[in-house]
Amino acid sequence: MPEKLSFYNTMSRKIDTVEPVDGAEFKMYCCGPTVYNYAHIGNLRTYVFEDLLAKTIRMAGYKLKHVMNITDVGHLTSDADTGDDKMLKAAEREKLEVLDLARKYEKAFFEDEAALGINRPDIVARATEHVDDMIAFVKKLEEKGYAYFSNGNVYFDTSKFPEYGKLSGQNRDELRHGARVEQDTSKRNPSDFVLWFTSSKFGNQVLQWDSPWGRGYPGWHIECSTMAMKYLGDRLDIHCGGIDHIPVHHENEIAQSEGYLGHKWVNTWMHAAFLQVKDGKMSKSSGEFLTVDALRNKGYKPEHYKYFCLTSHYKTSANFTFEALDAAKNSYESLINKIKEFKRVAANDATINAELESKYIHDFNEFMFNDLKSPQALAVVWDALKNADMPAKSKLNFLEHVDKIFGLFLTKVINEQEAEIVIPEDIIALAEQRKAAKTAKDWAMSDKLRDEITARGYTVKDMPNNEYQLLPVEK
Ligand code: AMP
Ligand code: ZN
Repeated sequence: MPEKLSFYNTMSRKIDTVEPVDGAEFKMYCCGPTVYNYAHIGNLRTYVFEDLLAKTIRMAGYKLKHVMNITDVGHLTSDADTGDDKMLKAAEREKLEVLDLARKYEKAFFEDEAALGINRPDIVARATEHVDDMIAFVKKLEEKGYAYFSNGNVYFDTSKFPEYGKLSGQNRDELRHGARVEQDTSKRNPSDFVLWFTSSKFGNQVLQWDSPWGRGYPGWHIECSTMAMKYLGDRLDIHCGGIDHIPVHHENEIAQSEGYLGHKWVNTWMHAAFLQVKDGKMSKSSGEFLTVDALRNKGYKPEHYKYFCLTSHYKTSANFTFEALDAAKNSYESLINKIKEFKRVAANDATINAELESKYIHDFNEFMFNDLKSPQALAVVWDALKNADMPAKSKLNFLEHVDKIFGLFLTKVINEQEAEIVIPEDIIALAEQRKAAKTAKDWAMSDKLRDEITARGYTVKDMPNNEYQLLPVEK
């Protein structure tokens, strides 16, 4: 019997209990990256959230089909179909073919995701490989009276969809002002959007396909509706993205999908708030643009950033500072050191406390099952680690559970064999001399020998009965 799951739904504006609409499997669609540049760590915060969501749904005992698109055509610099073509502009900048550019950044994106412990969605769909499906979708919208052809482009007529704006709670006029849409005189209504571009705008667009409206390429919004429906059917359980998608992209997805289907499309809309830097949101167009690689170059592991992401709830914006990242780094490294310590203890003592293990697993799950409260779930982790009644082996078992959702590579550390430590003969000889000095109560000599051992890169730890343990100093 699966557990109860509740998530905040942008559409209902409250926390809803969720269950798969078909009674069997959650169908989840997440808007993927536009592959014209490296993902910045702000983008990646949104994908961390979506991965936590996927893992939590599975942990609760449900089946899940998780689909994400790769936008490799059609996304203009403004989400509302104005400005330059993102892919085209970047290909010119990098002197690459558009598709080579797309594959380069798609590969980099999945490398970053893997480094952050994010699982690949079940289906990754590239826009350029689904253009025929998009054309069929637009044709049906045209047949149903939702689309019109004007000055070389096919537009969605938002006046035909009275519920337009229901996700963001704005009417069509407000949305127009909010999005500061550039006047396009070919549109019937300011909030209308492009379903299919012909050469009207970018004559130099390399990626073009034949269509009933002329050679051209799809708009960005139609990509998501088409691919979501192709792989997940007529009713989605969950649709995700960043909050910037609420007022334009997701309103447009709803209008075209519900127009096409004639019924409600998505049960739960979930959105991640932004990663902020001191001057506002982190964005590819603004100056401060940090990648996973840039963090590595500054001496941080991807795990440190992942830990940083877990310390804030996905629905609140997170302020990125290096002080905050340092704090996350320290916490993560101290977690890893604790694991190493527990492993040493558990190697000689396999005692467990099954009751405490399941109590902590239950508490951890409860926070995640109730709107992915990762900061509170993290507090449960530290609570368990501090509990003196919890044997080392149980702590390790609990951390393996935590890692199934948090993806912090803890299980890897738990399972890796420690390289056998070989202590050099001369260090052992010094330790033996020190033992003799201690027996003779020659404390000055004992201290001197300890310093000598430390200077050579080892620590000597006193044990009962004048025994000792030698370990290399951790670098
Ligand atoms: P893009 O590749 O530009 O289409 O964006 C990919 C994802 O990152 C989208 O879901 C955006 O909503 C999200 N996103 C963009 N900027 C940020 C940010 N500063 N913090 C969190 N998510 C963001
Ligand atoms: Zn989308």
